[in-house]
Amino acid sequence: VARPLRRLAVAAEAVGRGEEIARLPEEGPTDIRRTAEAFNRMRKELEGLELLRRELVANVSHELKTPISALRAHLENLLDGVEQPDRETLQIMLVQSERLGRLVDQLLDLSRLESGDVPLEREMVDLAPLVSQVFSEIQVARPEPGVTLADDLPGDLPPVFADRERVHQVLFNLLDNAVRFTPMGGRVTVTASPHNGSIDVAVADTGPGISAEDLSRVFERFYRVDESRSRDDGGTGIGLAIARSVVEAHGGRIWADSEPGRGSTFTSELPVAC
Ligand code: ADP
Repeated sequence: VARPLRRLAVAAEAVGRGEEIARLPEEGPTDIRRTAEAFNRMRKELEGLELLRRELVANVSHELKTPISALRAHLENLLDGVEQPDRETLQIMLVQSERLGRLVDQLLDLSRLESGDVPLEREMVDLAPLVSQVFSEIQVARPEPGVTLADDLPGDLPPVFADRERVHQVLFNLLDNAVRFTPMGGRVTVTASPHNGSIDVAVADTGPGISAEDLSRVFERFYRVDESRSRDDGGTGIGLAIARSVVEAHGGRIWADSEPGRGSTFTSELPVAC
């Protein structure tokens, strides 16, 4: 009885020191075996978390490195006199620094959302005026997309009980993506259907669609189907991760349906007031 318990104590101390540990043998009397099984499960979960942490650090460093390297290259060229501090060069540098700022802001926001640090300021929010507001903002942000924006919301849609700014953020992220990824002549439609104390708000586009494999990963931070395409459009790869955190903080779900060549629909479930 004592030997497996001693092994467990040694392994637990090793976990405490952050060391890598071998699997414990799952054998012996029932209680001892169950304890070893539970320990092994915990060990596996810790390994998974460590992997995620390493991946996150690598992704963040990679994302920060790109605009910083571009800025540095321009500054070096300016100092060497290879480039002139003309309007065009300064504009390129401004775009890179804006991207850096956006990336850091979004990362901070995501980390606050994930740690539950941001309290939701819930109120009754009518979706129709909010959707119109986001349409106007998208039209200002992307003046020439050649994509039609439309909404088809029921006249008697009840208000959602949610944080207005956060719902605005989700709608903006979903609509901005839809407009960015839909080619000229396409259409983006917002619909809403109430059911069982919540409303499903759907943003559907006639864009290229997403394959089943990518679909299961698009809500992960930094996952992009086409990395360079997203970057060129000013994408950070975090918009959908933020949208997911916001919707989940409201107790809802967010999901996407799509087929390559047949457009995509992103649906978020928001609570209505009791
Ligand atoms: P990004 O800043 O790259 O848009 P997001 O987290 O918002 O980051 O989206 C992740 C990826 O999901 C995008 O890079 C794109 O590949 C894919 N995606 C998101 N929305 C759409 C859409 N409406 N149509 C096609 N692909 C999309």
